[in-house]
Amino acid sequence: RAKADGRNGFRFFEQEMDSSMQRRRLLERDLRLALKNDELEVFYQPIVNIGTSRVSCFEALLRWTHPERGAVSPAEFIPLAEEIGLIGEIGHWVLERACEAASGWPEHVRIAVNLSPAQFRAHSLVDQVARALERTGLAPHRLELEITESILLRQTDLVLTILKQLRAMGVRVSMDDFGTGYSSLGYLRSFPFDKIKIDRSFIRDVEKGGDALSIVRAITGLGASLGMTTTAEGVETIEQLSRLRSEGCDEVQGFYYSPAVRLEAVQALLDGIGAVPQPGSKVPTALS
Ligand code: C2E
Ligand code: MG
Ligand code: MG
Ligand code: MG
Repeated sequence: RAKADGRNGFRFFEQEMDSSMQRRRLLERDLRLALKNDELEVFYQPIVNIGTSRVSCFEALLRWTHPERGAVSPAEFIPLAEEIGLIGEIGHWVLERACEAASGWPEHVRIAVNLSPAQFRAHSLVDQVARALERTGLAPHRLELEITESILLRQTDLVLTILKQLRAMGVRVSMDDFGTGYSSLGYLRSFPFDKIKIDRSFIRDVEKGGDALSIVRAITGLGASLGMTTTAEGVETIEQLSRLRSEGCDEVQGFYYSPAVRLEAVQALLDGIGAVPQPGSKVPTALS
């Protein structure tokens, strides 16, 4: 009896392996065509200044609508694009689209673009950024580049050299998903990041107090004393927002305000967010 179960379990496992590997192979094939076939699109999620309750930035987030499978998550296809050597081309395309989009927005609104490790290995990143800014006329200080600490794990000196060149151009650099990696604190000493984005996993439980709150408090304190902006990711409730405001966090991003939207919907968010007074906000808003 136990033996039979074991066999069934094994067969089930084999089938699972098979279909997930097959899905990967098919996705890989389709991803190569996605850019050409216009299936990729850049969406924009607002980042809101807590003090003014107005949008200060949008993060460019890639979306892939597969012709048969529908939406495929970037959490699945970005790692795939990295493995098959497509992220360089895709990343360059996102950068161009994002700068183009932001050049049409009000001056005080910035654009944040995520970078992958492979984009640092290609050696042309600084040129790519310079050309995107030049072509679109976007002021360098309106572009924020987000990196995770995994980028700094290998070829640290090369990456730091490139980041310093980007920063010398006036571009801002943010550390994304802060607190989830191995040695975030060490990296804060090796490079003057402009912004720390506190990972969503810490924001989730922040209104309950306890450890999550202690960690968020420590990170906002750290950011303030290092002169770095702190942004909370994944803010979904008004309780989380109020807590982050009282902890002195500078910016919030999350479904509480809006998920990432198509470029056409950006203007409505610029007009709408902060037009109604937020609880606890003492800053005059558009309607007051
Ligand atoms: P990320 O850079 O940390 O982006 C934030 C992610 O959190 C986005 O997921 C966003 O939709 C999600 N998010 C924002 N607010 C909330 C919230 O309130 N609740 C919940 N549950 N989620 C929220 P998304 O768009 O699925 O992207 C996942 C990751 O894929 C990104 O994480 C980023 O690492 C990567 N990615 C997306 N677009 C690009 C790109 O153009 N280039 C590169 N290299 N990576 C990208
Ligand atoms: Mg990001
Ligand atoms: Mg993040
Ligand atoms: Mg994240």
